[in-house]
Amino acid sequence: MSRNKSEESAGTPGTTARSRHASAEDPLADTRPLIAKEIPEGVDRRGFLMRTAVGGAAAVMTGCSPSSDERTAKAVATTPAPAPAPSAPPLAADLDVVKKEKGPVLTTVDEFYKVGPGPSSSHTIGPMRITYDFYQRCTKLPADKLATATKLQVNLFGSLSATGKGHGTERAALAGLVGKEPATVDPKFLDGLRDNPDQVFPVKLGDKTINVSLKDVIYDATKGDFKHPNTMTVKLLAGNAVLLEQEYYSVGGGFIEWKGYTPPKKNPPKYPFATMKELRAHADGNKTTIGKIMLANEMSIAGRTEPEVYAFIDKIINAMVATVKSGLSMPEDDVLPGPIKLHSKAATVYKRAMDDKFEADRGIGTLSAFALAASEENGRGHLVITAPTGGSAGVMPALVYGLVEVRKVDPQKIREGMLAAAAIGYLCKHHATLSAAEGGCQAEIGVASSMAAALVATAYDADSRVVENAAESALEHHLGMTCDPVAGYVQVPCIERCAFGAVKAWTAYAIASNEIASRHRIDFDATVMALAQTAKDMNSKYKETSEAGLALSVVLC
Ligand code: SF4
Repeated sequence: MSRNKSEESAGTPGTTARSRHASAEDPLADTRPLIAKEIPEGVDRRGFLMRTAVGGAAAVMTGCSPSSDERTAKAVATTPAPAPAPSAPPLAADLDVVKKEKGPVLTTVDEFYKVGPGPSSSHTIGPMRITYDFYQRCTKLPADKLATATKLQVNLFGSLSATGKGHGTERAALAGLVGKEPATVDPKFLDGLRDNPDQVFPVKLGDKTINVSLKDVIYDATKGDFKHPNTMTVKLLAGNAVLLEQEYYSVGGGFIEWKGYTPPKKNPPKYPFATMKELRAHADGNKTTIGKIMLANEMSIAGRTEPEVYAFIDKIINAMVATVKSGLSMPEDDVLPGPIKLHSKAATVYKRAMDDKFEADRGIGTLSAFALAASEENGRGHLVITAPTGGSAGVMPALVYGLVEVRKVDPQKIREGMLAAAAIGYLCKHHATLSAAEGGCQAEIGVASSMAAALVATAYDADSRVVENAAESALEHHLGMTCDPVAGYVQVPCIERCAFGAVKAWTAYAIASNEIASRHRIDFDATVMALAQTAKDMNSKYKETSEAGLALSVVLC
């Protein structure tokens, strides 16, 4: 047996002669021999590895070298058993948002990019759409039934109840009941409800008029066996008798479902895809861009013409630019609504960043200011655009504003970028979630940042691999991010988080467009799976409940 061989066989499996030699000369040069490799069953991996490593390091320092087996035995004896991590109750398998993991993506831009009042698509836009839907159903009831109606009642459960007050969910729910829709509601109506909560509104149902107020929206159980963490019921009552009742779910990004929901029938897409790999294969196989493939699918699924699709995209781009402009124009001493008394900072950051003597600092500072501006608009409850949600509504507008107003990029490229960004959001919705109540902040800001990276890469004519790499990178570096809004208000950490999401999107594009694209090791589909798995495993306290994290450690006085 050669000397090298005998050294290898005496060490831990896989330890090379070189590493053993290095450790003999300099024990800190290679830590592998210090760590026993086999992790016994039922033992916490991280704790175990730390203890074997600490044991090994102590042995080096004291000159006493126990064997790997001895270190393993000691580490097992001293490593506590892993504590079971509480995760959120599983989502009901029959929810469409859960079921449609299979089959091609069928989401369209008008379903995805929604204009509505902040601060949270799942807590304001979703509930408003839900109560508006219920109001519409009531109007279809027979006149004799309506004649007996006495009351409309909304019950909020789960996360809607836990953080709804900070999100203004009761105001949004009441607005839908009185016939207001998210895209057209005047934010002043919602502000008026906040300032005068005792207002009563007549709701006309056939010949009957029912008076409704915020008292008819009830913050109900925060914990229970719900199909989705954002569950609510709406009832039309005649005394104690129920004339009509429907259970609804606000499943993220303003999307809604209800008990017995079946998705609307849609036409098949021209280029069916359920993964980024398939989407890119269409783009590369047809020598075109992801944006153009998405355009063809929008046209085939929704039966729209190219000008119709682009007219909608232009509307969204203009709304995003408007929300940044509006946020930047707010006075520097403006204070956002709510108990945090958070000062607006977008205008100040913008002004000061413009004075930076270094161009790069100016770029990062102003991009952050654009994101702060749109996100502060969300915090004010003003109109924002879900991309993919209200909480993340500063990320995409920041990049859109930068490309449109600062860089003056070809508008057609930006339109294609918006479609590529939508594809990223669709895939995350298809396989994971856009709801913080299901997946924490990685599902909101993480997805928004990923979308924004795809937007910028597409706007700058990057090829499909670079678009994927940029989106992957931006999503990857948000994995695990929790949702813990202080006092239940979408302000801290949300507003600054939008700025970080925007800057990370640009960083992801900068890396993806400068690295050798084929050497990028992680594909987007794998990262979306990691997002889904992390969402499932995340402790439920970190899923928009305001029970942990910053929501717990920040004390408001
Ligand atoms: S912490 Fe993130 S996910 Fe949670 S409300 Fe704020 S922006 Fe949304």
